[in-house]
Amino acid sequence: MPAERLLPDTESEDLLKLTREIARDELAPLAAEHEELGRFPREQFRLLGRSGLLGLPYPEKWGGSALPYEVYLQVLEEVASAWMSVGVGLSVHTMSCYALAEHGTDEQRARWLPDMLGGDLLGAYALSESQAGSDAAALSTRARPDGDDYVVNGTKAWITHGGQADFYTTMVRTSDDGSRGISCLLVDAATPGLGFGAPEKKMGLTGSTTTQVRFEDARVGTGRLLGAEGQGFKIALTALNSGRLGIAACAVGLAQAALDEAVAYAKQRSQFGRAVIEFQGIEFLLADMAAAVESSRATYLEAARRRDRGLPFLRQASIAKLVATDAAMRVTTDAVQVLGGAGYTRDFPVERYLREAKVPQIFEGTNQIQRMVIARQLRGH
Ligand SMILES: Cc1cc2nc3c(=O)[nH]c(=O)nc-3n(C[C@H](O)[C@H](O)[C@H](O)COP(=O)(O)OP(=O)(O)OC[C@H]3O[C@@H](n4cnc5c(N)ncnc54)[C@H](O)[C@@H]3O)c2cc1C
Repeated sequence: MPAERLLPDTESEDLLKLTREIARDELAPLAAEHEELGRFPREQFRLLGRSGLLGLPYPEKWGGSALPYEVYLQVLEEVASAWMSVGVGLSVHTMSCYALAEHGTDEQRARWLPDMLGGDLLGAYALSESQAGSDAAALSTRARPDGDDYVVNGTKAWITHGGQADFYTTMVRTSDDGSRGISCLLVDAATPGLGFGAPEKKMGLTGSTTTQVRFEDARVGTGRLLGAEGQGFKIALTALNSGRLGIAACAVGLAQAALDEAVAYAKQRSQFGRAVIEFQGIEFLLADMAAAVESSRATYLEAARRRDRGLPFLRQASIAKLVATDAAMRVTTDAVQVLGGAGYTRDFPVERYLREAKVPQIFEGTNQIQRMVIARQLRGH
């Protein structure tokens, strides 16, 4: 269990308590089986929606809870600690609502946002393409205006919730002017011409479906353009700045779960006549794991508090994502070590945690890209 949290008010404490109950009773018991079978946790997202957890940082006017980011992220951490695929999904959903919440007109918000924040609709965020990963501005999915519609053609790659989501916040090319030729469309899953690839066969996070999203003469109404034409790349990057704080929180939750498992095992496993936790070699390993978890948590909270106060937080968000996801990789690897041979089997969750820890170092900007963002900030441009 993490150290007692320092939350801003009793309302936030109550919310975290509720989240811990849901995580313990409704998520954790199902995680291993769903992950083993690659079963998407749609029902669990409905439960989060009914519990008011799918719109936490957004305005109450549109069905959100207007909570500070530092509270939202701690809720997210608890969810990820119980089930990483659901935590990542909650983070992706929250990010996919950002474009409409921040850049939509009041009319657009009133029409779609309450269902998105209220849990009736699950979101996806579609930026990457097979030839446009780290260099996302090279994307080529094209939207051509035709009357009251855009006609969209192209293929998005690696889309979390592909084929499961109800809406796709999609970055498309509306002109050849590089990153200034990209626009953002809110695409309904039922749009004719929208199709999905087979789920990617991944190393971990197998409960979270990842597919290509294909557009073949898909007609999307011009009323679904979010922000102005050409603003899409800026919107996508701003959403990612906050989104990667969500990934940092998920990584901390995963690392905390691995640490808890390692401590529990080391207390009850005896060798040479005593519990292995009494050997300094194990004790120091666990101490380093705890230091990594708690310092990563402090790092994302610092970035979130800057965001909540309206201060620049770009560098801090990239640092949080880099530090927390690298820490989760180390902590989950060390958790397997603490469990010895048992840790290498599927009888214990730590081998799954290790597999799940790899991808947060890759998505929402690889950790190489985070270093570029940090270095660019240090250079001052
Ligand atoms: C499970 C999963 C879920 C995902 N979900 C989504 C999603 O929901 N929506 C979405 O839009 N995308 C999603 N992605 C895509 C993800 O964001 C990309 O995989 C990521 O941005 C990296 O792109 P890439 O895989 O093409 O790698 P590449 O860009 O081809 O990178 C290959 C390697 O080169 C390095 N590299 C690239 N450029 C540089 C540079 N300039 N300097 C130093 N090193 C560099 C990278 O760090 C990496 O190590 C997901 C990916 C995965 C695996």
